Amino acid sequence: MAFTDEEEILFNSIGETVLKRLRKTRNPADLLAILRSEQKQFERAYMTAPAAARSSVACRAGCDACCHVPVGVQAHEVLIVAEHIQKKFSSEELENVIARTVAHRAAFAGKTNRAQAALKSPCVLLRAGNCTVYEARPEACRSHHSHNAAACGQNLDFSREEIDVYVPGVRGRMFAVMLGIDQAVAEEAGYDGQAYDFGSALYEALTDSFCAVRWTQRQRTFSDASREEGSENSDGESGVIHAEGFFQ
Ligand code: SF4
Repeated sequence: MAFTDEEEILFNSIGETVLKRLRKTRNPADLLAILRSEQKQFERAYMTAPAAARSSVACRAGCDACCHVPVGVQAHEVLIVAEHIQKKFSSEELENVIARTVAHRAAFAGKTNRAQAALKSPCVLLRAGNCTVYEARPEACRSHHSHNAAACGQNLDFSREEIDVYVPGVRGRMFAVMLGIDQAVAEEAGYDGQAYDFGSALYEALTDSFCAVRWTQRQRTFSDASREEGSENSDGESGVIHAEGFFQ
């Protein structure tokens, strides 16, 4: 999608800020905290979207159709969620989440993205219609807004023609933030830019502490088994814009 001039400015300013902050830190332990704080840019970009666009957003607490589709993420997003779970969840809740990620991996393994979506499988972190990691949720979850909540549910039926639910005036701003962060992290700062399936990669993040170490060392963070279907091979990267030196 093409950005408006305003969205282009937003994309550049967020990318430059993220890159500057990542380059400035000398402590690998601070890297994820920087990205966690930059995710607040989604809320800021939303609050500065035109009032008419915001007033047409139909998303409400407890509406969860968008949590029944595969979620594509970069490694840092998974690590932020895993850190949140490890800090906030009880050991019993942690074990339950790990068990759900095991079932999720088994259900998604070897399936095309379309076949995965057709499962309408709830996100492993959805409980009673609510996101249990809302403050730490991935960027795709933060950027999705709909003007028609009923249509989101209908869109889970792939035999029907998809109904456009996106909110003009909000969608481009959310994409500008998401691509600004991802471009800075992966293409400019050189951290893992592979696209992963969220539920599958979360299993690895919660059961292998070396995932975070690999990420800080700019290595591939998760195994090929957690790679998003249709994304590139083990040397490939996600759909971020490929242009080195974009943010200086
Ligand atoms: S992380 Fe939260 S918002 Fe995102 S799909 Fe899962 S339950 Fe929904």
